[in-house]
Amino acid sequence: MRWERGRRSENVEDRRGMRAGLPGGGVRVGLGGIVVLLVAGYLLGIDPLTLLAGVQASQIPIESGQPLPPNGASGDPLADFVSVVLADTEDTWNELFAASGQGYRPPRLVLFSDAVSSACGLGQSAMGPFYCPLDEKVYIDLGFYRDLQDRFGAPGDFAQAYVIAHEVGHHVQNLLGISEQVQRRRQQVSEAEGNRLSVRLELQADCLAGVWAHHADRSRQLLEQGDVEEGLRAAAAIGDDRIQRRTQGEVVPESFTHGSGDQRVRWFRTGLETGDVESCDTFRADRL
Ligand SMILES: [Zn+2]
Repeated sequence: MRWERGRRSENVEDRRGMRAGLPGGGVRVGLGGIVVLLVAGYLLGIDPLTLLAGVQASQIPIESGQPLPPNGASGDPLADFVSVVLADTEDTWNELFAASGQGYRPPRLVLFSDAVSSACGLGQSAMGPFYCPLDEKVYIDLGFYRDLQDRFGAPGDFAQAYVIAHEVGHHVQNLLGISEQVQRRRQQVSEAEGNRLSVRLELQADCLAGVWAHHADRSRQLLEQGDVEEGLRAAAAIGDDRIQRRTQGEVVPESFTHGSGDQRVRWFRTGLETGDVESCDTFRADRL
C-alpha cells in the first residue's frame, strides 16, 4: 500500500500501557493466554459483545487515552499506519454518505494493550479487534497483526487495513440502523437462526470493507500490486471454517457467526469490484 503520504486521522486514541479499570484493580492477561484465547475466542466467531456481557458496563470506569501526535510524529509506524487507514475510511464514507444526502459521523479508534474498558464492557486482546456501537469506537490491540501474520498466514499492510475497514464497516451498519435491527431480530429467533443473521451481518461488513478499498484506490491510488491478494488471503484465513478446522479438527457450519473463508472472500470482492453499498445486501442474497 502507498500510505505514507496519506492524511492522519484525528480520531485515534492511544490507551496502550494503561490498565483497564475494574473494581479491585486492573486486569492483565498474560501473552500466552492471549494467543490461546485468540484462536479459541473471537476468531471462532464468538460475538465480543456476548463475552463482554459478563461484566456490567456501569462497573467500569471509562478512561480516555492520549490522542496520537499528528502528522506521523508518533515514531510508531504501525500506529501511524492505522491512523492513515482510519483517515481514509473517513474520507471515503464522508463522500458516500454525502452522495446519499446523509452526514457521516466518524468512529474513534482506540489502541490498547491487553485489556480495555469500553461502553460495551471489558474488552480483551484475546477477542481480536472489535467495534462497540454504544460508544461508536473501534478497539484494537496491534498485537493482533502479529497473529494475523504468524498464525493465520496473512501478512501485509493491506491485510491489516482490511481488518480496520471491516470494523469501520460495523460502524457504518450501526449508523444505518442495520445492527440494531439484527440485534432485535436475534432476540426473537433460535440460536441457529441468530447465527445465520450474524453471518450475514459479518459478510456485509466484509463487503463494506471492499467498498472502502474500491474508493481508496480510485480516489487516492492507495493500492499496489499484490494488495488485493493480501486482503483476500486475510479474509479467507479468518473465515470460521479454516479456524474451526485448525482448532477443533472439524467444521460445524451451524455454529458459524462470521461465514466461511470463501464467503468472506466473495463479499469482500463484491464490494471491491462494485464500490457500491447497494451491492452489499447480504440479507436479501439467496446465495452467500
Ligand atoms: Zn465483524
